[in-house]
Amino acid sequence: MEKTKKRILLILISILILIIGITLYFLYPLLKMKPAETGSINNTNVFALRNGINSIFFIKSENGYIMIDAGSSANKIEASLKENDINVTDVKWILLTHSDSDHVNSLPLFSNAEIYMSEDEINLANGTIKRNLFSYNSLPVNTDEINLLYDGQELLFDNIKVECIKTPGHTDGTMIYLIDDKYLFTGDAFMVSNNKLSVHPFTMDKELAGQTITSKTRRPSSNSTHFSQRSLLVSLRKSKVIR
Ligand SMILES: [Zn+2]
Repeated sequence: MEKTKKRILLILISILILIIGITLYFLYPLLKMKPAETGSINNTNVFALRNGINSIFFIKSENGYIMIDAGSSANKIEASLKENDINVTDVKWILLTHSDSDHVNSLPLFSNAEIYMSEDEINLANGTIKRNLFSYNSLPVNTDEINLLYDGQELLFDNIKVECIKTPGHTDGTMIYLIDDKYLFTGDAFMVSNNKLSVHPFTMDKELAGQTITSKTRRPSSNSTHFSQRSLLVSLRKSKVIR
C-alpha cells in the first residue's frame, strides 16, 4: 500500500515537472519580448498602445489614423483609446501584419476603417487552411471585405506612404509595412531581442521565416533607432530593407 502511494506521488511530481517545463518552454521566448508601452514613440509621429502581450500602433495623418494590427482584447483597447483621446471613428485605415487572434481581435470596434492584409494570408484568415495541427484562425469581421495586398504594393493614405513587404514564415501571408521610408512595422515576422532578429516562437514555417530574415532584412545598424518590442517598430533607413 505504502509502495503504491509512493508510486502515485512520484507520477504526480513527474507530471507537475513536465507541465512546469512545457510552460517555461513557451513562456521564456515571450518574456524576452518587450512590447512598446502606451505613449508617443520618441521623435516620431507614432503612438503605441500596449495591449497585453503586444502593442498596436497609430500614425496620424491629416484626416485620421493609420492603425497597425488590432490587438488581443477589444474591451481593453476601447478603454485605452478613450484614455488617450483617440476616437475609434478617426481610425481610417488598418494594416494587418497577419491574422493571429492577438493581432485582429478589436477589428469590430473600427467600423469606419478600411482593413488591409496580404493576399497570401486570406486562406488562413477565412479558415480555409489550419494555423497548426489543432486550430484555425478566425477573424471577427467579414473577410470578404478586407482589401488584399501584394508584395511590393505601395499605398498612399493622405500624404503618408506605405510600402507592403511580404515576409512569409510566421504565417503564410505575414506582411510588414514600411511607412514613409522610415518606420518598419513587423508584427510577428521576427522576434527581436537584444538588438537581434530571430524567428518568432509560434511560427508556422520556421525554416521559411529564417530565410525571410536573411533575404528581407539586415540587422539594424548601430545608428538606427531601434525599439525592442513584440509588435516591432524599427526605424530604419530605406536602404536597410531589401525588396
Ligand atoms: Zn502571430
